[in-house]
Amino acid sequence: MTNKSFIIKNLHCANCLNKIEAKLLSMNIIEKVEINFYTSTLNLELNSELDEDILITMINKAFDNIEPGSFVLYKEETTDNKIQKKSDHKDCHGHDHDHTEINHGHNHDHGTNKVSLILLAVGSLIFAISFFIDFVLLNRYILIIAYILVGYDIVFKSFKNIKRGNFLDENFLMTIATFGAFAIGDFSEAVAVMIFYKIGEYFQERAVNNSKKSIEKLLSLKSIYANLKKSDGEIIKVKPEEVKINDIIIVKNGEKIPLDGKIILGSTSLDVSFLTGESLPYEVELESPVLSGSLNCGSIIEIRVEKLYSESTVNKIIAMVQNAAAKKPIAEKFITKFAQFYTPIVVGLAILVALIPPIFDGNFSQWFGRALIFLVISCPCALVLSIPLTFFSSIGYASKRGMLIKGGNYLEKIEKIDTVIFDKTGTLTKGKFKIDKIITADNVNENVLEVAKAGEFYSNHPIGKIISNDPTIIIKENDIKDYTEIPGKGVTTTYKGNPIQVGNKKLMETFNISIPVIETYQTIIYVAKNNTFIGAILLSDELKDDSSRAINLLKSLNINVFMLTGDNKNIALSIGKEIGLDKNNIYFELLPQDKVAKIQEIKNISKTGVVFVGDGINDAPALTLADIGIAMGKIGSDIAIEAADVVIMNDEPSKIYELISLSKTNKKILTQSIVFALGVKAIVMILGVLGIASLWLAIFADVGVALLAVLNASKILKKS
Ligand code: AMP
Repeated sequence: MTNKSFIIKNLHCANCLNKIEAKLLSMNIIEKVEINFYTSTLNLELNSELDEDILITMINKAFDNIEPGSFVLYKEETTDNKIQKKSDHKDCHGHDHDHTEINHGHNHDHGTNKVSLILLAVGSLIFAISFFIDFVLLNRYILIIAYILVGYDIVFKSFKNIKRGNFLDENFLMTIATFGAFAIGDFSEAVAVMIFYKIGEYFQERAVNNSKKSIEKLLSLKSIYANLKKSDGEIIKVKPEEVKINDIIIVKNGEKIPLDGKIILGSTSLDVSFLTGESLPYEVELESPVLSGSLNCGSIIEIRVEKLYSESTVNKIIAMVQNAAAKKPIAEKFITKFAQFYTPIVVGLAILVALIPPIFDGNFSQWFGRALIFLVISCPCALVLSIPLTFFSSIGYASKRGMLIKGGNYLEKIEKIDTVIFDKTGTLTKGKFKIDKIITADNVNENVLEVAKAGEFYSNHPIGKIISNDPTIIIKENDIKDYTEIPGKGVTTTYKGNPIQVGNKKLMETFNISIPVIETYQTIIYVAKNNTFIGAILLSDELKDDSSRAINLLKSLNINVFMLTGDNKNIALSIGKEIGLDKNNIYFELLPQDKVAKIQEIKNISKTGVVFVGDGINDAPALTLADIGIAMGKIGSDIAIEAADVVIMNDEPSKIYELISLSKTNKKILTQSIVFALGVKAIVMILGVLGIASLWLAIFADVGVALLAVLNASKILKKS
């Protein structure tokens, strides 16, 4: 399998997408097609290699066949101009006036170009003049001139399409409708339909282009260049893609960090709002890890690069938001299917209206005129354009707020859920433990901290790290052998030849080590040497500032909130009480596999779906099992990013509420658009059959609905 990405040019007809998709899929070599109208990208999965020139000729033929003039370019061809003259400088307060861009290298195509706008204006003026001319024949000549000026390209395209067998395309239907109007003597109606259709198209295109721009701005995380410091000290500007691991880059005030790495010189404050939606500056110093996409608001820093651009945070975010369009929500799939049937059905109705009633009343020309109304409203454009745009806007907006949603389908599912399960450590609590107390067992002459530190030497667990980072004791790596980490329990190792166990009650039980009862609301880590308890370390973790608020907000939506933890009963219950959780909704002392079993249990009770929120450490199975898996505050953890459906880039549990609210707004806008668009079309059809609606009204309603639906969808983007 090979994947190829392309940039699409001159594609204006959203309704053509599924036809192009079908056409591409009918080619043997193409396995999978994804077209994103709003980022103008085409991704293909091919089942075998093909000469690049032949491939692009084949694809372009398909595009041009469905929408004449549209074509694609290889993505690389269009991104070669990456280092542009534009500066990457920003001011730290107003990052809205953006200079960097997610550079697809494409310009916005304006299908409605200047010439056709001028012709439209002149045609409309002539149309207006025709009202003052009473002499019928002259009036008609003038209207024909207006029609040609305004609609010549539509008629031209429709003839082109007939030759290709596309009888139901918009241009063809508009041509038939207007020619029909001429045929029954409604000259001014024919011209009016064309004028409104063109004006509608123009505004629709502008609205779509504005949305495209807003989306690009939302995704404008990528730096255009990196300042690479060469070994001789010279600094050169290169593309972020050219920087290698361990290279040193320099980031000045007002520049975005182009790649993930660690600070090796200087300290500064960063604006990470692009990544997390968090507007407070974030202080970093020597040795601090920094993420690409952050904006340097302080002094100059030197960074040792730790990840290639392809693996960097920024690239992952951009890819995630772009790929989100590939995971199509049910609403979008429905509309695509609906669109395939809608047009033929409406055209069928038009034929029935034209043929059946006149059999009874003989008034052929009247029914023919009424039938034309059906042709005018036969494009499902309003829905085909606005539904994907609604999802895309919501996902774009969410990413700006630090919530990365991997697909419209997840947004759709989140809207329905009735249960949220939080993991405790690192999710509701900060996961930053501090050692409160060290207890040494009676009659034991050991340094408990030293033994514990040796045990945790290699651990990545937040508890392990805090113990192993204690600076007061130095451990020699050579003294440590046979390290094993037992998830949900702790660690075992051999230190200076003695077996060591460091972990919770369950770990001690596993090794049959008897332990004393310790009454506390802290996390207890038992330490054993030579299979004998020698002491314990008591640690505490802090609740996150907005955990309580998050739980309250979720409860206000009637959502059932649970907390799961591997920690002990005392601590689980006391934290649960503090943040307002129901005692029965708290489960403690769970091993990772117990957590998964609990989620399954809760899932069985839930009627509409379960969200699991974890910090990504040992959480991958839980994230996958839940209907929606949300990883929080761990943008660095690759497993979490892969397993989760949504990634929350900052540490706030209240983002879950924000996400659910967004999904509800998304749904509301979708419903409005669908009901409104279909409602208006149905009314126009009924009024048309009854002879109340004119062609004027029909086109006005049709174009207006499409425009309003697109504007409604872009409302979400405006919020940001
Ligand atoms: P977790 O499922 O990762 O939250 O871990 C659950 C519990 O297992 C923790 O609360 C600790 O009691 C224990 N544990 C896990 N890993 C370690 C470790 N490296 N050192 C000590 N205890 C651990």
